[in-house]
Amino acid sequence: MASMKATLEYEIALDENALAGLKTSMSGTLIGPEDEGYEQFRRVYNGMIDKYPRLIARCADVADVRAVVNFARDNGLVLAVRGGGHNGAGLGVCDDGVVLDLSLMNGIRVDPDVRTIRAEGGCAQGAVNHAGSAFGLAVPGGIVSSTGIAGLTLGGGHGPLARKYGLAIDNLLEADMVLADGRFVTASAQQNEDLFWAIRGGGGNFGVVTSFLFQAQPVGEVIAGLMLWDFEQTGEIMRWYDQFLPAASEDLYGFFAIMNVPPAPLFPVHLHRRTVCGVIWCHLGAREQAQKDLDAVRESHPPMFEQVGPMPITALLSMFDALMPPGLQWYWKGDFFTELSGAVIEQHLHYGARLPTLLSTMHLYPVNGQVHRVRPDATAFSFRDARYSMVIAGIDPDPANNEKMIDWAREYWKALHPYSAGGAYVNFMMEEGIDRVQATYRDNYKRLAALKAKYDPQNLFRVNQNIKPQS
Ligand SMILES: Cc1cc2nc3c(=O)[nH]c(=O)nc-3n(C[C@H](O)[C@H](O)[C@H](O)COP(=O)(O)OP(=O)(O)OC[C@H]3O[C@@H](n4cnc5c(N)ncnc54)[C@H](O)[C@@H]3O)c2cc1C
Repeated sequence: MASMKATLEYEIALDENALAGLKTSMSGTLIGPEDEGYEQFRRVYNGMIDKYPRLIARCADVADVRAVVNFARDNGLVLAVRGGGHNGAGLGVCDDGVVLDLSLMNGIRVDPDVRTIRAEGGCAQGAVNHAGSAFGLAVPGGIVSSTGIAGLTLGGGHGPLARKYGLAIDNLLEADMVLADGRFVTASAQQNEDLFWAIRGGGGNFGVVTSFLFQAQPVGEVIAGLMLWDFEQTGEIMRWYDQFLPAASEDLYGFFAIMNVPPAPLFPVHLHRRTVCGVIWCHLGAREQAQKDLDAVRESHPPMFEQVGPMPITALLSMFDALMPPGLQWYWKGDFFTELSGAVIEQHLHYGARLPTLLSTMHLYPVNGQVHRVRPDATAFSFRDARYSMVIAGIDPDPANNEKMIDWAREYWKALHPYSAGGAYVNFMMEEGIDRVQATYRDNYKRLAALKAKYDPQNLFRVNQNIKPQS
């Protein structure tokens, strides 16, 4: 169905000849506001984002990507690149301009002999790990399967394998890319090394990644699941978690959450909708060792509920999918922390007790182990010395709750920010301005700005946490 709003409000007159040329050169599809599918494909994961691009280009291959990049650049159009469309700030879509949608480019090739996985730029991370699971392999990444491997990796990519195997970028071997001038290049430790440095944390600022080559890690079955404690115990559990996890074997990962218990059959009815704190565990070691490590938790702080057991890693990495389908309203803010001081815990107790909606939550993802062994200037991802990547997420199906969710997230963040390390994980930011982007890249920003001037001097790729080309 055509979008009336879009049809009425567009002022851009596209060069019809250029558009016809693009159409004939593409093997994928072009969708305009009048076309079937426009409503579906202008939408991104975050239902709060409501943008009306002039054109959506569903690319089928590298030739399509080059044609679309050249078309947007030559016609002075804003260009948004979309991998999985999961970005909280909605940076996979734009008003008026062109969306370069990679979702048709979702091929995956696993090489079990050398343990690598090649994934095209439009793959969801769940699909990548599903392909790897047939060979007992996985790529470090996040906790929801529909998240795009592209945006996640280009921002850093932390998740249950991080303590043992590092970030997604620490397992990236090379990336094929289309640059702002239309050139196709490979970035790796051997080719275009400066570009390879920049894309490992620098987001989509440097070009369109058409395929990634990852070193996959040997991960099959894990012992995983969640333990919950009464909200009253939050301070005590946070203090204990802060000491316990860094000292534990790097086979053990656990992220901390303040959340409401979903009214789902998995949970006893008396816990439904109660605010609790919890840890979502993932143990990569042998069963006996996992039992021992998790028994240590049970003995020191017996949970009021737990659901922990053996499962394929793919089951853990899709555990939250049903709870968080596309189209919910999301507003989130993040920061890195180096300590969970008394003052920090106090704010978590205050705002954690006031979750504005059933799905709203706060997560603390541990940053330690293998992540700390890479120097802050070895890749663009600067906060290697942080200990936690925090996200405060207001989530709800009903837009009527947006105002209270946004107010809560902002207030919570404002109260904690003075105790933070100063910057945030780029993948947990809304559109927050250049100061926040600079604070996030710290000493790496200057080099990133110089590389931006080298690879994208006109800032064609600016629908992202934008790094301005050095003048
Ligand atoms: C429910 C949920 C759970 C999450 N869990 C985690 C987690 O556990 N760990 C974690 O690290 N992050 C997590 N994230 C954050 C996630 O990493 C970011 O939202 C990320 O931006 C998503 O990538 P995408 O490709 O889906 O997004 P998109 O919206 O498609 O793109 C995000 C940004 O990357 C750019 N981009 C996308 N594809 C390409 C490409 N091929 N080439 C160049 N640039 C590109 C876009 O232009 C945009 O700026 C989660 C997000 C959600 C919504």
